[in-house]
Amino acid sequence: MKFFKKDNFKNYQGKLDVLITIMHNTGFLTDDKVENAIRSIPRHNFVPASQKNEAYENTPIPIMKNQTISQPSVVARMTEWLDLQEGQKVLEIGSGSGWQSAILAKLVGSGKIFTIERHSELAKFAKQNLEKLGIKNVEIINGDGNFGLAEKSPFNRIMITAACKKIPEKLLDQLAMDGLLIAPVGENIQSLVLLKKTHKGIVEIKNQDGYVFVPLV
Ligand code: SAH
Repeated sequence: MKFFKKDNFKNYQGKLDVLITIMHNTGFLTDDKVENAIRSIPRHNFVPASQKNEAYENTPIPIMKNQTISQPSVVARMTEWLDLQEGQKVLEIGSGSGWQSAILAKLVGSGKIFTIERHSELAKFAKQNLEKLGIKNVEIINGDGNFGLAEKSPFNRIMITAACKKIPEKLLDQLAMDGLLIAPVGENIQSLVLLKKTHKGIVEIKNQDGYVFVPLV
């Protein structure tokens, strides 16, 4: 199956190679499957036209509504920690540009991504970006991610891409048994936290501080 249609932004391959090398050298990208997914979803398709030349810098980029497309190295790390498998059902909170959703979609293959975005303009932006690449296994919902999406639960994986003071209880409820949830938790500077639902309850698998995300509202 061809995952996306050809685009016509020239000369991005060299810049992408440099970005991938930086992410390897700094230890943010170690998994070949995640590398392939990032390579296959061109980031320049997910930034405003005026920012295309910066798309392969390792920085967040403003999109609209004061929001940003996340930094590539952070997307790589979160995606690696989430350990996605073919066929899984995933919930993402904070669609933004749709870039992270597209990477998740690539990794689950025949599985499906549900992604919730509170700003309708961004939900529309993400939808257009995904459509342009012919990505069909992502459903974008315009709404408040704090409530999750009970009717499609349980989810094998949940990713929150905005900083939360506390992980919303409803999202933990909607996580499948043995499922993983990743989120940046904290106020000014966040810790990236990876949790697992087990028969004994919610267990913390990983925790690393020093991240900065836009807030979950
Ligand atoms: N994953 C995105 C980056 C997301 S930035 C990408 O790849 O581009 C965080 C996003 O979370 C923003 O778009 C913001 O509008 C959204 N957001 C913040 N609070 C939210 C909430 N309660 N429900 C849904 N989306 C929310």
